[in-house]
Parts: sequence; structure tokens; C-alpha cells
Amino acid sequence: MSITDVRLAQLHLRLWSPEPGEYHAPAAVVTWNGHLLTCQPTGAPLDPAAAVLCPALARALAGPTRTLPPTPAEPMITALVADYAGATAPLQSEARSVVPEERFLARLNDGCRRCGSWKEADRDGRGRCDTVFCACTRRLLWLADEVCPAGKWAA
Ligand code: SF4
Repeated sequence: MSITDVRLAQLHLRLWSPEPGEYHAPAAVVTWNGHLLTCQPTGAPLDPAAAVLCPALARALAGPTRTLPPTPAEPMITALVADYAGATAPLQSEARSVVPEERFLARLNDGCRRCGSWKEADRDGRGRCDTVFCACTRRLLWLADEVCPAGKWAA
């Protein structure tokens, strides 16, 4: 099925969750199994609107590695709370490190869960940050370099 690069960026961010299958965007051909995304760049430039929406995708497609590794599925908040080590094990990478469980829980319990912008049930239980300070609603509370755009918790 053909999709736009913006749709590709939305899928990369898990803002769009289509039926599993192969999707052809101008910049990449992707295989989506409902949880994991594998991506084969076509070599065509990424639509600038998609690059703005998902800079990580733009960086990955521009990198020297032309076949991207599967993107780990974003865990649900309940899974992170129940088994932090298990839920974050697939997310460990050289590029972005995972914070200790205590820091994740402090961000969640002392920050987001006390914040009117937090919608924990949204995005199928992965949480949504609706703050006006940032257009991205996806807060990856387990990543070391993540910050609260409203300054309620630090990296
Ligand atoms: S503004 Fe900060 S504390 Fe509030 S939901 Fe977003 S990330 Fe969490």
C-alpha cells in the first residue's frame, strides 16, 4: 500500500497504527507487524514536513546505514510499572540510554501523574502529554535525554 512520508513519520512515532503489512512511502519501504517497524530507505529525500514531524526518522534515513534496524515497540505505562527491567530491555541502545527505575517512577508519579496535561490511557496506554509547550505528545519517560517541556522534571 502506498503512503506519504508524513504517514511514515506518524507510523514511526506510533501516532498512526495501521493494519500489519508492507507500506511504500517515497523515502522508504516499511514492514509493520503491529508492534515493530522495519524500514528500507529508497534513497529518495524525505518530505520536509515528515522530517519536521519526526527528526529521528530524518536522521536515521540520512545516516550511513541504509537498512534501519527494527524500531522497538514503545511499552505501555502499566508494563513499565509492573516490570521496568523487562519492559525497557529491548529499548537499551548505544544512542539513547535508559534511566534507572527510580528516576522513571519519579518522573511518572511526581511529575506527569500530578500534571493536568497527562493522559495516561491515551495512545493505547502509552500516555500522552498535552502540554502547550511542545507539539510532540509522546513523552518517553524512560529515556535519559528526555525532558519535560514544562520544566516539571529534568533529564
Ligand atoms: S508537561 Fe511534563 S509533567 Fe506534564 S504531562 Fe507533559 S511531560 Fe508530564
